[in-house]
Amino acid sequence: MLGLSMPARDYDAIVVGASFGGLAVARQLRGHVLLLDRNEVGSVQTSACGTPLWVCEWLGVTDSVLQVHESLAIRTPSRTVRYDLSEVPFCTFDYRAFCEGLLAQCRVKFLRTSVTGIQDGAVVTGEGRFTAPVIVDCSGWRRAVTGGAGDASRRHSFGLETYTALRDEGLTFLLDRRLIPQGLGWIFPVGTGSLVGLGSYVGRSKLKPALEGFLREQDISAGSYHGTYFPYRLLRPTVGRLFAVGDAAGQCLPLTAEGIRPALYFGGECGRIVQRILDGALSLEAGLEAYRRVVARYRRPYRVLRFAQWLAAHTPTRWFALITEVAATRPLRPGWWPRYGWFGRPERAGMPAVT
Ligand SMILES: Cc1cc2nc3c(=O)[nH]c(=O)nc-3n(C[C@H](O)[C@H](O)[C@H](O)COP(=O)(O)OP(=O)(O)OC[C@H]3O[C@@H](n4cnc5c(N)ncnc54)[C@H](O)[C@@H]3O)c2cc1C
Repeated sequence: MLGLSMPARDYDAIVVGASFGGLAVARQLRGHVLLLDRNEVGSVQTSACGTPLWVCEWLGVTDSVLQVHESLAIRTPSRTVRYDLSEVPFCTFDYRAFCEGLLAQCRVKFLRTSVTGIQDGAVVTGEGRFTAPVIVDCSGWRRAVTGGAGDASRRHSFGLETYTALRDEGLTFLLDRRLIPQGLGWIFPVGTGSLVGLGSYVGRSKLKPALEGFLREQDISAGSYHGTYFPYRLLRPTVGRLFAVGDAAGQCLPLTAEGIRPALYFGGECGRIVQRILDGALSLEAGLEAYRRVVARYRRPYRVLRFAQWLAAHTPTRWFALITEVAATRPLRPGWWPRYGWFGRPERAGMPAVT
């Protein structure tokens, strides 16, 4: 009850969630800004942390890179399709080092506390109530302030993974209906070992027996498991006077489940808009509208990826494997791969780099 009885404390802006989206917003802000998370920054990893290498370079957190990947294999029971990633190499990174690197670039006050919602315009937390003219929800799929996620399994995918000692080169996706009927598996090497996981496009959360069975077959022993839901459809980027970024706005990419880049990209864009509001250069309404316009520009690619996810979940695996093979060939690949690989890099999209 502490949260309701104490007077609210005022800030210029409040950012809820200090992972990819929240840190990307916060590093753009100056002024009296409060960043809230129920955990210490970088302490609870929920992701395999695979992203293009340029993301770490662009954000100045290259120290967090664990392994660079220049190839991707899509393994199915009947064939393996290989993608050369050398044009846009990917990497896997250390979550804590990445987040701490971004936090070090922020000039905001961080407070570890759980947010329980919003009441009379104030953010209610275990440490009391906080108010600000601008509030940004970056709390992931749970959407702590923009409104609960409802029945998570109906609108979200679910992923579960574990650390193993398996050493490998390149990233691997596994498409095998016997392993996971409407979803995919992955092996993401992280230097000293690999994260091996399964993701269900239809939000099935009981994936541990299948993952354990796969690891047993490969004679690999598992470490501790982590997993959670993630969205596969865009949600409203603003709710009333609130901004939403990352998984809280459904910005995780369908099909590949890449959610880090979108959270960082839209977070940077949102942060810049919020700073203009704080500077008095934009009204709150104009800022909300500007952010909605930024997100709306990407509706089409999101729709295309959602259709591709639907194909992956509903067509026979050998058909989908054939599609990925054809998509990797010379006449088609240059038409889509660079656009995918560079998605989220501001200067490539004709926008200035985030500073
Ligand atoms: C198993 C798995 C593997 C994945 N692998 C990849 C990958 O390799 N590459 C990739 O790009 N994407 C991957 N994703 C997706 C990616 O992890 C998410 O899309 C991404 O983390 C979204 O970032 P975010 O900042 O929006 O939310 P999150 O990373 O979920 O961060 C939300 C933050 O809000 C905080 N929070 C939540 N509720 C509250 C509350 N009530 N009060 C206070 N704080 C709160 C949390 O503690 C957390 O720090 C994976 C997802 C899963 C489940």
